[in-house]
Amino acid sequence: MNAIIISVGTELTSGQTVDTNSAWLSSKLAEIGIPVLLHVTAPDDVEPLSRQIETACAQADLVLVTGGLGPTADDLTREALAQVMGVELQIDPALAEQVRAFFARLNRPMPEANLVQAMLPVGSRPLENTCGTAPGIHTRIGSTKVFVMPGVPREMQIMYEQFVLPQLPRQDTGSVILNAVLYCFGAGESEIGQSIYDLMRRGRNPLVGTTAKQGIIGIRILARASTAIEARNLLEDEIKEIRHRLGPLVFGRDDETLAHAVASRMIANNKTLATAESCTGGLIAKTLTDIPGSSAFYSQGWITYANEAKIRLLNVPADLIESHGAVSRPVAAAMAVNARRLAETDYAISVTGIAGPAGGTPDKPVGLVYVGLAEPNHCEVTQLRLGNHLNREEIRWRTTCTVLNFLRLRLMTDR
Ligand code: AMP
Ligand code: MG
Repeated sequence: MNAIIISVGTELTSGQTVDTNSAWLSSKLAEIGIPVLLHVTAPDDVEPLSRQIETACAQADLVLVTGGLGPTADDLTREALAQVMGVELQIDPALAEQVRAFFARLNRPMPEANLVQAMLPVGSRPLENTCGTAPGIHTRIGSTKVFVMPGVPREMQIMYEQFVLPQLPRQDTGSVILNAVLYCFGAGESEIGQSIYDLMRRGRNPLVGTTAKQGIIGIRILARASTAIEARNLLEDEIKEIRHRLGPLVFGRDDETLAHAVASRMIANNKTLATAESCTGGLIAKTLTDIPGSSAFYSQGWITYANEAKIRLLNVPADLIESHGAVSRPVAAAMAVNARRLAETDYAISVTGIAGPAGGTPDKPVGLVYVGLAEPNHCEVTQLRLGNHLNREEIRWRTTCTVLNFLRLRLMTDR
């Protein structure tokens, strides 16, 4: 069996919404060994939509459609489906009752328009929607199984798991595929690619590929074998080899973030941390406290955005700011050293920089950031030049990642 996925919505074809349903469904079908031939995106328009449904049914054994089942005039998927089937739409009394009951439960009057959602092409069957009003539709066109689900991702996912998946065959492809991702920070994609060049050869098993997102390089590893144990061994051996080659560049695997890496080392080393942030506006503190259990190492933070706040809350000497400017090495050092002393922690980090888009000068361009890392009897300040090709959000996020990475590397040598 193979499949085609059709996502429906003018918001998708116009670029206002990114189609996440197709990606989600493809990964679900892969789990049961059903290959996806094609993703199709169609607007809320009966003609092109029915043409796409018809073409898909001629090519695939399974067609999954999402979107366009709502109650408004632009929801036309059931019309398009009826047209392809060559039948009329007919109200299903049991469905009409369900839609009414949904509104009754919410204690709201049912708009007449919602009755459209009880209409089905003659000869098709409904799929229950347990968390919304739009029921799905199941039918057969020629020898092709067709399932139509709502566009709202959560409703679609629940309907798929509950009512579509149980009707799909589990195909034994004769092989097990396992995958993992290793994340790196501190080197570019090409540099990392060089180190694992031979492992990235196409057609190899395991298959290794890289992706880059905001300075974080992901290394995807896909291992295929005839049994789960073989695939697991293949995958773990490859991970060991890549970790060996890249050393401390690798900070995590699968769901592990830089903040996780910092948190686990902080806790393992029994250390505490405070933060003093200017241009990141609390993003470092937020990212660290996103980790459950971060109170075990994270003590407190300051967002000292104005010069006056740096002076009043962190005791940064006013003349230091006067003579060097707020974005400077001495100010970053004073922020970190004083934050550590005030919070009585093992470490403190500080950040002061120019996130842009305005405020840059030839001397101090957008993307210039000073990062301080204070510890007992020592404070190291690093100058970052992130480049004015990045926007404000990117500069703040890269600064955060860089700071977390400094901490991680420091903690690797500190016990
Ligand atoms: P619909 O069922 O077509 O009325 O879709 C309801 C809402 O779900 C839309 O307004 C979108 O925000 C969202 N949606 C629809 N299709 C998709 C899709 N393929 N991927 C992500 N979101 C979607
Ligand atoms: Mg829609």
